[in-house]
Amino acid sequence: MDIDFSEINYLVDPCSRTLHADYQQFLLSLIGLTVIDINGENSDEWRVISTLLHGDEPSGLIALHRWLTTENSLPRPKTNIRLIISSVEAATYQHLFQHRYLPDGIDLNRCFNEKTIRESKDAKNKNIDGYIERAKLIACAIREVNPKAIIDLHNTSGNGPAFAVSTLITPSVLSITSYFCDTLILSDINIGAMMELDFSCPVVTIECGGSSDDQAHEVAYQGIKNFAQCDSHCALPQDKAVQILYKPLRLVIKTGRKLSFSEHDEGYSGVTLRKNIEQFNYGGCCDGLLLGWLDDKGLDNIEMLNDQGVNVVAQYFKMLDNKLVCATSLKIFMASNQTNIARSDCLFYVVNNINNHL
Ligand SMILES: [Zn+2]
Repeated sequence: MDIDFSEINYLVDPCSRTLHADYQQFLLSLIGLTVIDINGENSDEWRVISTLLHGDEPSGLIALHRWLTTENSLPRPKTNIRLIISSVEAATYQHLFQHRYLPDGIDLNRCFNEKTIRESKDAKNKNIDGYIERAKLIACAIREVNPKAIIDLHNTSGNGPAFAVSTLITPSVLSITSYFCDTLILSDINIGAMMELDFSCPVVTIECGGSSDDQAHEVAYQGIKNFAQCDSHCALPQDKAVQILYKPLRLVIKTGRKLSFSEHDEGYSGVTLRKNIEQFNYGGCCDGLLLGWLDDKGLDNIEMLNDQGVNVVAQYFKMLDNKLVCATSLKIFMASNQTNIARSDCLFYVVNNINNHL
């Protein structure tokens, strides 16, 4: 599919005809990367809401469309708001919201660090220049308005509760988080995501929950409403308590190892995770909990690097007979039984038991 990566479409205070009757028609009317500016009470100040960096994560777009169309006239936020809708082509390719990126493409939210993505194994034989160009255009569109706060709306690949991710913790970050959910993950993972760039303001990624979960769309909508209406003179007021989880690690399957999902031990080679692995996104995992099964290569099938690049998988997991079990109390995030996501991104994120950080 040919995409013009150099193009941005701008809309300012769109009318109801441009917004169409529903989000599906609206999305289908867009051509590529789209920036929508909404005028606010204080027109000297800006906030940014980004969505659809991943084409199969609809909550942000659904919620934005609802926010824009719920009254007879456009909402009037406290400040100007720039909305950025990124992967329109992927989101509309062969049915809506089925593709994170186009089949011959690459994950746009890994392209904000040009060096890392060019060196990555995922980039091999892919035309990554266009995706890097789009990432640059998005970063430019953000810098252009010098925003005071940025939120980036996503869905988790599996089902799970909403949570926020940021690279730093400030009162504003906690406040923004509290509009959407009650858990904030402080991350120092460098994967080339937009939130890793320095925009001289808080950037909070919101994982609203599963992509087909109505509750996730509701989380996004309520959060956008609050974010648009909050005062920015002093530190943003914090709505409710937010729990902070520190520095998740990514559990990955090594290249070339087979990944399966099953309810039972099937004796498959490589790694077999429990089919219902997503249920562990809710709540904690205790020492001894069964997560799946491993072949005779054992823990050598998987890897979890700490911030020094040391593989610490054996501190968190162990093999009993051929069972993969937790070796300590921990919390997992973003576990999914979609093989392609689990394989290309990670099996799931891990943090130490939440009780240590309450
Ligand atoms: Zn995403």
